Amino acid sequence: MTGELNYRKLGLKAGLEIHQQLNTKYKLFCKCSTEMKEKAPVSTIIRKLHPVASELGSTDVAAEFEYLRNRTFHYQVFKNESCLVEIDCEPPHELNPEALYITLQIAQLFNCEIPNELHILRKTVIDGSNTSGFQRTLIVGLNGHLNFKGKKIEITQITLEEDAAAIVSEENGKVSYRLNRLGIPLVEIDTGLLEGYSPTEIQEIAYIIGLLAKSTGKTKRGIGSIRQDVNISIKNGLRVEVKGVQELGLISKVIENEVKRQLSEKVKEETRVALPDGATKFMRPLPGADRMYPETDIPPVVVDKEYLEKIKEDLPEPWTKKLAQFKSKLKLSDQLANETLRSAHLDLFEKIIKTEKVEPAIVASTLTQTLKDLERKEQIVSISLTEKHFLAIFDALEKKKIAKEAIPEILIYFSKKPGNSISTAITDLNLTAISIPELKKIVKGIITQPNITLDRAIGIVMSKVRGKIEAQTVIKTVKKMFKP
Ligand SMILES: [Zn+2]
Repeated sequence: MTGELNYRKLGLKAGLEIHQQLNTKYKLFCKCSTEMKEKAPVSTIIRKLHPVASELGSTDVAAEFEYLRNRTFHYQVFKNESCLVEIDCEPPHELNPEALYITLQIAQLFNCEIPNELHILRKTVIDGSNTSGFQRTLIVGLNGHLNFKGKKIEITQITLEEDAAAIVSEENGKVSYRLNRLGIPLVEIDTGLLEGYSPTEIQEIAYIIGLLAKSTGKTKRGIGSIRQDVNISIKNGLRVEVKGVQELGLISKVIENEVKRQLSEKVKEETRVALPDGATKFMRPLPGADRMYPETDIPPVVVDKEYLEKIKEDLPEPWTKKLAQFKSKLKLSDQLANETLRSAHLDLFEKIIKTEKVEPAIVASTLTQTLKDLERKEQIVSISLTEKHFLAIFDALEKKKIAKEAIPEILIYFSKKPGNSISTAITDLNLTAISIPELKKIVKGIITQPNITLDRAIGIVMSKVRGKIEAQTVIKTVKKMFKP
């Protein structure tokens, strides 16, 4: 690392566009599943795209035609995850009400104004990632804001759009796409120009935006479910757009690298693509303003005032607030608080700490780190574990029937024998908790052996009582009783 640059002095300006997939049952304009769980395509459709010049507008038409003329597009079709709508052989069905509901929630979480009528537009896309040659999009919120370190961050607009098909490969003019991603509801959240912030602060703002969107509990998780574009410029410089930052933690690095690049070479207005290490690579010249025209197959959607009021009343608690509470009230570390929020077991976590008087950090680490660890080692299959199992485990912990060290073993047991009760598990695994006097008796038997060292004594006692009493208690007791 070279010395920290003074980004304020350099006049760093950045704009964020955060794209987040929604976890709806159906796609935006058809009843296909959004799960993307099918591994192999059932067929492949081969197309050449023939854009209509009037739809492309006047700019760069020749270049775009040239680009398209030399390519064939191979679209992979997946069972239940693509239909006639995705292959552009049938008009779109009505707008998915679930996707609209979630987007209206998000727009309200960002304090946006919501238009009375939402107009669906077509945005020209020429890389073949949309079979129709355009992407459908509608503005759902305008002029919103969020608070960051006592300042207002402007949210210029929130749009709901169809995700594009995912590229599989491109060689010798043959481009392959998977159609299962096409049409998944995608929310785009745009900030105004962020001035006077460091790259780290800009990354924090992106993080807050992600958290607020996730407060709905209806966003998709995992790689590719959130994608970030960043516009970057410095004083007297030109604007460069970096597309496709897949990891939030890379944003500050991408900005730092881009500022360094802009300081050391002549900058052209262009679109670059983010690489996994935070560097960027030229993609294409900066396109002009998006070419939009109205969608003629679907009428505008009227937003009913009462409906909007109802959404406002049922608005979920912002995760920014929840995160703060996890840290201050529940005493979770920053990492554990964040992991718990992002975990698929968030609801379960909240239910357990409400019903059982156990240390929240133990519950949180069990539901995140322990489960992940056991899954990675292929010791459990999470899907076989249900709420009932976790509630039984933490109830036994609260009643001191087990020590917290026994939790992983019981999880492995339940994963194999989901029908058994916790008491059967404790008996079968020989994990019945022991009392301090019982522990002292065992310790006494060990430390009176000839030539025993403290470390060795701790090791032997531990192996005898593992999972039956807290490890810390064991260490403390042996240390206290050990006399060389
Ligand atoms: Zn479909």
